[in-house]
Amino acid sequence: MRKPAAIVILGPGSLATARRIQQCYPDALIHGLVGRVEGDRQYLEFGTTLRELYQQDTPIIALCAAGIVIRTLAPLLLEKGLEPPVLAVAEDGSAVVPLLGGLGGVNVMAREIATALQVAPAITTSGELRFGTCLLNPPSGYSLGDLEQGKRFVSDLLAGEPVRVEGAAPWLDQAQLPQDAQARLAIRIDSAAGVPAPDELRIYPRNVVVAVSAGTPDVSTAVSDALHRAGLAVQSLACLLAADSDMARVELHHAALALGVPLRFAQASDDSEQWLDDALGQPASLRRMGGVIIAVSERPVDPLQLGRARGRLAVIGLGPGAAELMVPAVRAELDRANDVLGYETYVRMAGPLRADQVQHCTDNREEMQRARHAFELAAQGRSVVVVSSGDPGVFAMAAAVLEALHESTDADWHNVDLQILPGVSASLATAAQAGAPLGHDFCVMSLSDNLKPWSIIEKRLDLAAEADLALAFYNPISRSRPWQLGRALEIVARHRTVDTPVVLGRDIGRPGQTLRVTTLGQLAPDQVDMRTMVLIGSSTTCVFPRVEGGDWVYTPRWYGDKPGA
Ligand code: SAH
Repeated sequence: MRKPAAIVILGPGSLATARRIQQCYPDALIHGLVGRVEGDRQYLEFGTTLRELYQQDTPIIALCAAGIVIRTLAPLLLEKGLEPPVLAVAEDGSAVVPLLGGLGGVNVMAREIATALQVAPAITTSGELRFGTCLLNPPSGYSLGDLEQGKRFVSDLLAGEPVRVEGAAPWLDQAQLPQDAQARLAIRIDSAAGVPAPDELRIYPRNVVVAVSAGTPDVSTAVSDALHRAGLAVQSLACLLAADSDMARVELHHAALALGVPLRFAQASDDSEQWLDDALGQPASLRRMGGVIIAVSERPVDPLQLGRARGRLAVIGLGPGAAELMVPAVRAELDRANDVLGYETYVRMAGPLRADQVQHCTDNREEMQRARHAFELAAQGRSVVVVSSGDPGVFAMAAAVLEALHESTDADWHNVDLQILPGVSASLATAAQAGAPLGHDFCVMSLSDNLKPWSIIEKRLDLAAEADLALAFYNPISRSRPWQLGRALEIVARHRTVDTPVVLGRDIGRPGQTLRVTTLGQLAPDQVDMRTMVLIGSSTTCVFPRVEGGDWVYTPRWYGDKPGA
């Protein structure tokens, strides 16, 4: 399946055309250049962005001169065999030029976009123009045997030779091929193994499914051997199928990866042949070969319609807010998600999401309920993301999700592929802006007594302050907890002088962020709200002015006597 495309624009003049293209691809996001034009997503630098998209196999629709796209991607072109479709579209929508990705369906996209813009696409691929289809890019459900041989075959056809079609190729019915039953050249569509004849274009239907189980030694070799002995081409393998109870077995996932096919699961039954038949839902011939069962069906098998995938649940941290501070693994996880769960503010911060991604916004307090809901969705085979701000393991959803799993005896929940992806936590983002106030040992605390008694907070504060740790306070104050911060500062003041540096970071990494450096003596609870991070220095924390105004704050790496002094 192709990834959603990126529509890349450089200025406001392209926005109207970009929106028209987006109507044909609702999953595509418009990427706008920062400071010039507002897209669904912003980028800082055209060249880097385009090259990144290309390297991530994202189809690119760039609304600018073809030359700019060519020059930008040129350094990458020799490295790559398979590539995503890349098109240049004139800003005003008057021209659609497919540039790269002929085998990735760029001409199909060019036709679709051109139809939407009511212009003729600039298709230059001879085979495609002559036969109305790209023979080297069969539809999903089929795979091409050999590309180089295929290119020679198409040039022979273009030179005027007739061709026979052997086997079922319904998509070629519409093509304008010079067909002749006696032709030397043949397009052969079947799943038999073996080296193709020189005058043959082999296309393999993906109509073979192999049922595997976790007990089999070296699963991928067992599958290849079995296919070989059955006289079937590996190119015809549509997917591997395993029992639900084997869902978390890594060796099966490795085998599917090695064979380059999806791994699907279905509820096993005692009669394994009946099981396979039921899962396939279409007539198939079955053969048992060593540890596996091979099913060959008449038509190509769509793996997405067969059983279900192993569900995935990722608990991610968005970082403090700014897109540049989100780790790339989190960005990629959001892109693959079917469902996004979280407190509404954070789900919005994770966006823009595509139209096909389901948002489940809930109240911030319903953590355990949200965690259970996430497992229910993931256990159905969906890709689910639970969002937190900052890091998900710091006073956020990761621990709640793990607690929900720990309490559950549901095997489907335990089979989910659970991932925790880190983010830049508010204390670290705030510290970095101020300098390095957490440069030595420090203690992180939440001042909220919603989930723990206030007495334990007082005790920990007292001991941490006595131990001369720098302190980072999350959830320092709220409307329902008005007096706690004042009390906390009294406890800290027992162990620190009034001139101890304090950093207050509010909405760090978000619009309207403020950073303030003050002292323990001057700090008053009314300078702090629930969107503020409070960092209190240790006895060694220093402050000095910066040339551009404001201060640097840091806690030296050493403690006690300065080394080398
Ligand atoms: N998981 C989050 C913390 C959640 S607790 C993280 O790792 O950052 C919520 C508290 O974090 C808020 O009360 C505030 O003290 C702090 N906080 C979160 N985002 C912030 C930001 N952008 N700027 C300053 N403080 C922030």
